Amino acid sequence: MVNKRAETGFGPSPGDGAGTDEAKGEGIMASEMLSEPGSEYGPCLDENCGHRDCILTRQMSESICPEYGRRIGYDERFYRSENGYVQALCIE
Ligand SMILES: [Zn+2]
Ligand SMILES: [Zn+2]
Repeated sequence: MVNKRAETGFGPSPGDGAGTDEAKGEGIMASEMLSEPGSEYGPCLDENCGHRDCILTRQMSESICPEYGRRIGYDERFYRSENGYVQALCIE
C-alpha cells in the first residue's frame, strides 16, 4: 500500500502544545494537602515517633495560615507562598 497523499501540510497539528507560555500565570499554583496522622500517607499517630518526614508534616500542619490565623491542619488544601503556607480556602 502506497500512500500518495504526501500532504505538503502547513498548519501545525492542534495537539502540539509547544509554545504556550504559562510562566507568567500567577493562578497556576499547585495546592498541597497533608494526610491525616495514621493514614496511609500521613505521619504516625505517635507524636514522638521521631521520623523526619513525620516531624516535617506535623510542623506544616501546625504552621499558621497568615490570612486568618488558623492552623493549616490536615486534609485541607493549601499553597506555599512567600508568607508561608496559606490555606486554599482563604485565597480562593
Ligand atoms: Zn513517624
Ligand atoms: Zn487561613
